[in-house]
Amino acid sequence: MNNFLEFKVDLDNFIDELNKRLKVNNTKVEELLHLEHKSYANFVKPLQMMDEYLEQFFTPLSHLNAVNNTDKTQEVYAQSLPIITEYSTKLSQNIAIYKAYKEIYANEKESLNYEKNRVLELNIQHFELSGAHLDETTKERLQEINIRKSELSNNFSQNLLDATNEYEYIIENEKDVEGLPVSDIESAKFEDEGVTKYKFTLQMPSYIAYMTYGKNATIRETLYKAYVTRSPQNAAIIDELLALKNEMSILLGFDNYSAYSIASKMAPDEKSVVSFLNDLVKNSKAQAKEELKEVQALCKKPLQSFDTGYYSELLKKAKYEIDEEEYRPYFEQQNVVEGMFEFLNRLFGIKFEKTDEKLWDEKALSYNLYVNDKLVSRLYTDLEARKSKRGGAWMHNWQAHCLDEEGKEQLSSAFIVCNFPASTPKNPSLLRHDDVVTLFHEMGHAIHHMLSSVNENEVSGVNGVEWDAVEFPSQFLENFAYEPKVLKLFATHYKTGETIPDAMIEKLVKSKNFLSASGMLRQLEFSIFDFKLHTKVYKGNEVQDLLDSIREETALIQTPSYNKFQNGFAHIFAGGYAAGYYSYKWAEVLSADAFFSVVDEGIFGSTTAQKYLDIILQRGGSQSMQELFYLLQGREPNPNSLLRLNGIL
Ligand SMILES: [Zn+2]
Repeated sequence: MNNFLEFKVDLDNFIDELNKRLKVNNTKVEELLHLEHKSYANFVKPLQMMDEYLEQFFTPLSHLNAVNNTDKTQEVYAQSLPIITEYSTKLSQNIAIYKAYKEIYANEKESLNYEKNRVLELNIQHFELSGAHLDETTKERLQEINIRKSELSNNFSQNLLDATNEYEYIIENEKDVEGLPVSDIESAKFEDEGVTKYKFTLQMPSYIAYMTYGKNATIRETLYKAYVTRSPQNAAIIDELLALKNEMSILLGFDNYSAYSIASKMAPDEKSVVSFLNDLVKNSKAQAKEELKEVQALCKKPLQSFDTGYYSELLKKAKYEIDEEEYRPYFEQQNVVEGMFEFLNRLFGIKFEKTDEKLWDEKALSYNLYVNDKLVSRLYTDLEARKSKRGGAWMHNWQAHCLDEEGKEQLSSAFIVCNFPASTPKNPSLLRHDDVVTLFHEMGHAIHHMLSSVNENEVSGVNGVEWDAVEFPSQFLENFAYEPKVLKLFATHYKTGETIPDAMIEKLVKSKNFLSASGMLRQLEFSIFDFKLHTKVYKGNEVQDLLDSIREETALIQTPSYNKFQNGFAHIFAGGYAAGYYSYKWAEVLSADAFFSVVDEGIFGSTTAQKYLDIILQRGGSQSMQELFYLLQGREPNPNSLLRLNGIL
């Protein structure tokens, strides 16, 4: 008996099959809505499973398109997206479904278990946050606002992109590029009527290269000024966006956009977010000042904003840099993977066993996961870079653990994809330490999904987990990639068999924590600015005044008054982070807190680790992370753990 789906995608018939399935689903929705007595069992469960089966059908295509991209996968994927979007938009706006959920919740709340109640609560909330339940005039206005908001966000990023692309700075004196890495000099170099010149732009690799390695302070200042004064016309967009977001939040019944944003997140209220961030500022400042002193010591004049990158790099080179090539032989890919499994086995008692399943590429592997000798999940790994694979690393969930309509258990599965160096029969794939951290991170996401024991798929594994808590399990696990006890399980030289020396591990930690307090303050500045900016309607100069007042606490050197950082803050004005930038630090605190409990208990044999498995990993999104965390630790998360993790306390 095998509970796992076979990985296959029939590209030729995919669209036909998709249309067929959606037609069946649409008929089924109509039938369900006609039921006279709707209940969780006869209405919610079938709807949920319908979604699960559709995901199960669609995920292999999006996976294949990302890891074995061809013209054909692109074509089929591009064709399927609008079909899926239209289908799910219609479902999410179907007010009859919303009413049915409300009715079932009112009737059965007392008799349903918390998993089922959570499914109902999240669905109802989802409808209400989009305003689906409001009167027609309000809904129309909300739709207008949404359309205008996306236009404005699009203009914001377009202006930023144009400003970035328009600018160039030409260096004619070879001396001014001395000290830059050869590859950066090569990228900048061009011939102009027989003369060699160097072009720098505001695009990321180019700008950063000069700001980090360019020794001519006047050029750095010119580039910096160009960078932080990009797209001044975005100031007007910010004003309009803030006003619209505020109006939208009020129409939806919230005091302001920040309140709207955290309604679906783990953070309980606005006050908690602000005081959380302020406390971290207060506790990081002393060390940030020390760090600044160390950087300042390398510069004869008082440091300016355009100097810090350059002098920090000098300091790093002198004291904290690690040589990746020295580390690679200790991190042979297969050793690392098996070592990670061994670590998870000792920490949680879970076991991975390789299967002989044939997959989409010969480098792709699959493993069965056992808990107490019971098969619970399947993991698919595809770790090596190749041409047809999208860059980066990610976890993608496929099947979710649940009980189907008949009460039959369905097991979970997930993919981990990375872009590590390719191995050949002659040469093994040797990783950088950063790659090891990445693998642990994605594995943290994967086991969060795979170890679920929740019976309702919509809140099982990573499904239904709050946005500001999703990175908790991944960051939790990645922290162990710096622990001597863990590294020594697998970090052995692939040729000599020698275990990685303690001094090398210590150096990794020091290099990770290089200028960590200064980095912390900068992230906190962005987070506080973003969050406060969305608590009322700021307009014109008020935006700058707010930023200035925050900088009084977070900036250790004077920011030039021409710096209009906000006009380039695309994360919040053109991305999905508005009143949510704090989430990075929020999840880091949860993970650092749980991590140190395990470390302080000696790691292996830790009772907190066992509880982490039982509570955080097995319960997935079936309860708020606020509750789960409390169950795990018996208290609120302690922000000092994050400071300790960064070497600040
Ligand atoms: Zn992640």
